[in-house]
Amino acid sequence: DLGSSLRGTLDDLRGKSRISEEDIEDVVKEIQRSLLQADVDVSLVQELSQNIKSRALDEEPPAGTTPRDWVLRIVYEELVDLVGESTDIPLEEQTIMLAGLYGSGKTTTAAKMAWWFSTKGLRPAIIQTDTDRPGAYDQAKEMADRAEVEFYGDPDEDDPVKIAREGLGATQDADVRIVDTAGRDGLNEELIEQIERIEAEVNPDRNLLVLDAAMGQSAKSQAADFQEAIGIDGVVITKLDGTAKGGGALAAVDETDSTIAFLGSGETVKDIERFEPSGFISRLLGMGDLKQLTERVERAMEETGEDEEDWDPEDMLEGQFTLKDMRKQMETMNNMGPLDQVMDMIPGLGGGLMDQLPDNAMDVTQERMRDFEVIMESMTEEELENPRVVGQSRTERIARGSGKPEERIRELLQQHKQMEQMLKQFQGMGDGDMERMMKQ
Ligand code: GDP
Ligand code: MG
Repeated sequence: DLGSSLRGTLDDLRGKSRISEEDIEDVVKEIQRSLLQADVDVSLVQELSQNIKSRALDEEPPAGTTPRDWVLRIVYEELVDLVGESTDIPLEEQTIMLAGLYGSGKTTTAAKMAWWFSTKGLRPAIIQTDTDRPGAYDQAKEMADRAEVEFYGDPDEDDPVKIAREGLGATQDADVRIVDTAGRDGLNEELIEQIERIEAEVNPDRNLLVLDAAMGQSAKSQAADFQEAIGIDGVVITKLDGTAKGGGALAAVDETDSTIAFLGSGETVKDIERFEPSGFISRLLGMGDLKQLTERVERAMEETGEDEEDWDPEDMLEGQFTLKDMRKQMETMNNMGPLDQVMDMIPGLGGGLMDQLPDNAMDVTQERMRDFEVIMESMTEEELENPRVVGQSRTERIARGSGKPEERIRELLQQHKQMEQMLKQFQGMGDGDMERMMKQ
């Protein structure tokens, strides 16, 4: 298969002290073959190839990086650039409208997304405005029931704008309103005009274009039509459980200057995941173990200290102590043993400091740590970076999303505060000791 020949070509670079133009050509050729087979638009493939070639030949690898790791890193970065980051979907009140061709998977996606939001502790509702297709109402209602979410539709009304208006009124209590629409393409002027009117009525925060993974070259022009009519903020690729890899959607992303939000991979409401670049790249290239590849790249970057995302205990001492820092620290502690024992091993750190802390400051049991992990999964980026924003209503939302009691969430916030306080006390002592302790 294609993935394995690409892997072979990459493996051929192993041990080379210099990578020639020919070597790069070979790698680029394999990547081109995989991407074209996955329906990625030719011009996008050419652009990617050009970027990889010029970077691999022009840029000097950082000290300590092998030429092979350097090429892998460039390839990976350029692929991430090609597929884009995930569309930002904040966990807050919003209205999302779905658009796309007949049968692309809009109604199924509406139910899947509603289910996904409900797992994040938000209350979703689906508003079904498809008056064209017989049985559209029943299908949407049934899927909403399966997702166990609120539903609004009116099988006796034939004006979708009116249904949308009444649906918004009827779903006031919901946090996230997902407006499903009838299928249409850009050639049908009447239907395009109709979706413009629905859009104007609903005024959504986000318009998502739903595309079948098998959509090939026509994705680009479809996307252009929808972009012109309503503006597209993100793309959903459906039916990735089939043989199609979904590369055609990248032309739509490029055309609308948007990103990919969700991936659908089955007919049940749970067959949905947030788009994530590295997994999607693996799928496109047919390389199951791209993760391994990127880990090697990451390791190389760690050695050269280039990855800004990398966690450094020093940063924690200097800047803000976030929940992400706390998670890292819990992981580190997990590898070292209980924190109080670790502290005992540090020269010059007597019992004095320990005695000043509340007894349970060190008591991060395995069970609590696991709960904390699950809770953090239901928190937004903002909340992880600045836990102080979490008040009662956010606590309730996080509790619903994580399935953990509110008490546990308050414990997590309390734990964070205590650790932060402890770190402040550490700041007075020698950096070296702290660093040694954290890095062990
Ligand atoms: P719509 O016309 O855009 O609303 O599309 P539907 O949601 O009605 O989906 C059309 C067909 O595709 C239905 O038979 C769905 O069950 C099926 N479908 C939708 N999404 C997926 C998916 O991710 N995987 C698979 N295998 N089938 C899907
Ligand atoms: Mg539908």
